[in-house]
Amino acid sequence: MPDVIIIGLGPAGASAAIYLCRANRRALLVGKDFGALQKAEKIENYFGLEEPISGEALAHRGLEQARSLGAEILFSEALDLSWEPDGFRLLTGEGEASAPCVILATGASRRTLPIPGLAALEGHGVSYCAVCDAFFYRGRSVGVLGAGDYALHEAAHLLPVAGGVTLFTNGAPVPEGMDPRLSAVTEPLASLVGEEQLSSVRLADGREVPVEGLFVALGSAGAGDFARKLGAEVKNGSIVVDDSMQTAVPGLFAAGDCTGGLLQVSTAVGDGARAAMGVLRYLREAGK
Ligand SMILES: Cc1cc2nc3c(=O)[nH]c(=O)nc-3n(C[C@H](O)[C@H](O)[C@H](O)COP(=O)(O)OP(=O)(O)OC[C@H]3O[C@@H](n4cnc5c(N)ncnc54)[C@H](O)[C@@H]3O)c2cc1C
Repeated sequence: MPDVIIIGLGPAGASAAIYLCRANRRALLVGKDFGALQKAEKIENYFGLEEPISGEALAHRGLEQARSLGAEILFSEALDLSWEPDGFRLLTGEGEASAPCVILATGASRRTLPIPGLAALEGHGVSYCAVCDAFFYRGRSVGVLGAGDYALHEAAHLLPVAGGVTLFTNGAPVPEGMDPRLSAVTEPLASLVGEEQLSSVRLADGREVPVEGLFVALGSAGAGDFARKLGAEVKNGSIVVDDSMQTAVPGLFAAGDCTGGLLQVSTAVGDGARAAMGVLRYLREAGK
């Protein structure tokens, strides 16, 4: 079992792994791609670069540095994170892993849609966490917005509780292997309808599908989704951490863009180092 699971292969995650491995701790780094750096054509404001370098090349260097120091690297999507008496349990597309500590380093997540009504109905029918809110919709018709593995995972949480679950793919094809108990609507969404509470989803072709809850699960789960599920505070989209980058949940740390702030490579690297020091202290004090 690793001492720590780090979700995210960007500068925050790789930096944390480097510090942890050099302290002789076993770190499992899990990520699905190179995150924000994958989109950065050129980085030239990071310390030590004689020449500008592509974001992807810089991310690759950091990851190889972590690997060379002993980090285990798993390229896979993180689907669910839960807490059990013996530690945290991570479900990925490739299987499960457990550890006494987790560092969330999944970058900034902006996975929402500019659909009229969506922002106004957040907390009034629009939710981002099936595990947290499914209970409020027992026996009622709900929707899940998304078409990937994460959306299917959220729908699986809702199926035993809700009266009916519709997957709104917003123009994407129906995912392969979808649970036959789900109904699917592929027409793009035009708006959400409801005064004080969501009552239906209006589609681009003018049809309305009545739902009392809509669970947004676009793309992959982000750090905020995992943090919320475990009871950590998320404020204005950023995870709230203390000086050692620990959330209010013991053993759950966060670093980099997912904690807000400057959103730069330099701050993400620093956050990763601080989270690693926090993890080392946490493990020491827990006698692990
Ligand atoms: C176009 C662009 C240009 C930029 N230019 C600069 C610049 O010039 N200088 C600078 O300092 N900064 C720049 N930045 C910002 C910089 O890239 C980020 O601040 C930095 O990468 C944040 O690091 P991070 O480790 O927090 O997150 P990221 O680098 O975003 O890494 C997030 C990691 O989490 C993983 N992940 C997310 N969700 C999941 C999931 N569900 N399952 C598995 N893995 C998951 C991703 O695959 C990725 O590995 C730029 C960003 C962009 C988008």
